[in-house]
Formats: sequence, structure tokens, C-alpha cells
Amino acid sequence: MNDSAKPNVLLCKGCWQHMKMPIPLRGPISIPFRVFGIRPSQMNPNLCTICETNFTRVKRRKQIVVPTTILFADVRGYTGLSETLGAEKMANMLHCFYDNCTKAVWEKDGIVNKFIGDAALAIFNFPIMQDDHVQQAVWAALDLLKACDEQKEQVTAEIDGENLSLGVGIGIHTGEVSIGELGSSYKEFTAIGPVVNLASRIQGQAEPGEVLVTEDVYQVVADSFPHAEKRVCDLKGVDHPVTGYVLVRQE
Ligand SMILES: [Zn+2]
Repeated sequence: MNDSAKPNVLLCKGCWQHMKMPIPLRGPISIPFRVFGIRPSQMNPNLCTICETNFTRVKRRKQIVVPTTILFADVRGYTGLSETLGAEKMANMLHCFYDNCTKAVWEKDGIVNKFIGDAALAIFNFPIMQDDHVQQAVWAALDLLKACDEQKEQVTAEIDGENLSLGVGIGIHTGEVSIGELGSSYKEFTAIGPVVNLASRIQGQAEPGEVLVTEDVYQVVADSFPHAEKRVCDLKGVDHPVTGYVLVRQE
């Protein structure tokens, strides 16, 4: 883990924002809490396990509707590459992807809600609330691509000049989603609804190395990306064409 990705707060940001409860995450005062299993969350180390697995207790409801920004990232060509590269190198690449994802998302106060094989689902504006969650998600996406691009050179060097890359594609959409616990035995909360589905679909249209966002996202960040490429996408399960924008980092 890079130094800048290290957790940096002493109290859980989620418990403080949602319940005004000071839950210590680190330092000597956190030790008694750890005895009761309260420790930094795997979704974001500036949150605690209460936030992660006690959604219903924190929010006093099974489900809530929250405006969020949803980011999906996916390693392209993973299945094809795994045959060429072998299990160990693929594991290394995936390890890089996971690390880069968590670092980029945590730095912008989002959570990596889950990894699904070679893909990641990140949520911004819950549990850590932030007015500029759309912008934060976009910066996280660009940071993630940049980090993967830097890793690409390392991995390429390792495999005798073969031109293989992490080739990550990212899709972002924003809107109201339903967040809560699904089922009774699986305790981690997740986000569901049309906004999540559309974020996933548009991610499928991003080429390796691209951040593709919906019109709703682009309207918020357009000033920073005046040269974004407009792309009309036909998405599976969506009966009308969806306008997307490819965002390019301005150096
Ligand atoms: Zn917490």
C-alpha cells in the first residue's frame, strides 16, 4: 500500500456523520473496541465494522434511498490473459488492480463496496457523505487508470516485452440508489436500483484505459473536461440510446 493511501483518521467518519457516535479506529483508545470486533472496515479503513455490517442498526431501517455516484471498474481481457500469463502472474495483476482501486477510492472518501472477480463496485456519498461526490468519483477513476498505467509498464517488463496490460475500463453514473442489507445472513450493505445497473452497463462500453460517464455525471464535471468525446451507446436492457462521455485527464 502506498503511503498516501494509509488510513488517516482516528474516529470512524461514518458513525460520526450518521449517529454522532465517536468510534475510535486506531490508537490505544481503540483497543477495547477491537475486543468487541469493532475495527477498520475493509470497504474503507476510515469507517468501522459497525458501518460495514450493522446497516440496519445505524440507519434504523432495512433500506434507504440516497443520492450517490456509482463507479464500476473492470479488468479487460482477463480471461484471455489468464491463459497466456498463468495463474501466478494473473494473481499479481489482480493484486495490483485491487490495490490501485482501494487507494484511488479511499483517497476520495468513497468505499469499495465489493470486488467481484476482476471487477470492482465503488460507492461515493455513502456512508461518508460529501457534497461533491460526483467530482470525487471522477477523480478517483482517473487516478485508478493512471496507477494501472504505471503498473502496466512494470508488468510488461516482467514478461519479456510482451505487450500485455491491465487494460481497465471504468463507467460512472450518478443518481438515487437504494442502499441496505439484502437477505438476513449476508450482513454487508450494498446498493441496488436502475442507477447501479446503468453504471454497470456503461462500464461495459468503456474501452481499456477509458473512463466513460453518463450525461448526468458529465453535466457536473463538464467545465473540467471541455474536450470529452461524446459517445452514443446502445446498452443491453436499456430501450433507448444512452449518451456517454469519455473523460481524459488534463495534464
Ligand atoms: Zn463506523
